[in-house]
Amino acid sequence: MNLMAKYEIIKPAPFLAAALAVSYFFLNLIYYINPPVIFNGITDEKIVALTFDDGPDPRFSPEIVRILNDYRIKGTFFVVGEQVEKYPELLKLEYEAGHEIANHSYTHRNMDSLDRTAVREEITKTNGIIYKYTGQDVNWFRPPRCKYDLKVKQEAKHQGMDTVLWTSAAESKKTCNPDEMALLVAAQARPGGIILLHDSRLDRSGTVRALPMIIESLQLQGYRFVTLSELLDRKS
Ligand SMILES: [Zn+2]
Repeated sequence: MNLMAKYEIIKPAPFLAAALAVSYFFLNLIYYINPPVIFNGITDEKIVALTFDDGPDPRFSPEIVRILNDYRIKGTFFVVGEQVEKYPELLKLEYEAGHEIANHSYTHRNMDSLDRTAVREEITKTNGIIYKYTGQDVNWFRPPRCKYDLKVKQEAKHQGMDTVLWTSAAESKKTCNPDEMALLVAAQARPGGIILLHDSRLDRSGTVRALPMIIESLQLQGYRFVTLSELLDRKS
């Protein structure tokens, strides 16, 4: 049988479709076995997501929501389950204003130091509480202090979530000066960027003061703010 005859028997279109289906299956299998961690959105559009970890917290969350609402911006709150149990009205405040709610564990412990059952409990318990107050499933999990391993990524994936970190952080150990925080974020801005901020645990008054400057400096650069789900659904 010559080469041309072979091509006639194996019709290119069905063959290609089958090859693509097999590739897609294996890609999904690899993603399921070793899920990738997301650091940024893939886009050329000047869009970024502001993400707030550790809340809700009556000291800082209401003010952050007020600022976001004043600028008509939607942010994403990575909430801690224990905090939500203490302040469910703040979760509702965030959600009802149109902000996205994501999972930052139940106790804010280092996930890599827990066994698989405990990790699963941390994730599912927090998802359950979020669902109780919002009726929404959660798309994203961020492990506290960036402490994760394979089982943490897998457990998030098994609950239908991707593990998300960040592209740039506003706060640093070196400074809590609001001007410097705003300058740092503005300098590191890029299309598809995920920006890390906090609304609990430590004193976040610097973050609250920096937030309007961060928003305005990025807007001056032509950036638009979207939720994490909007950012990560976009492909250039
Ligand atoms: Zn945290």
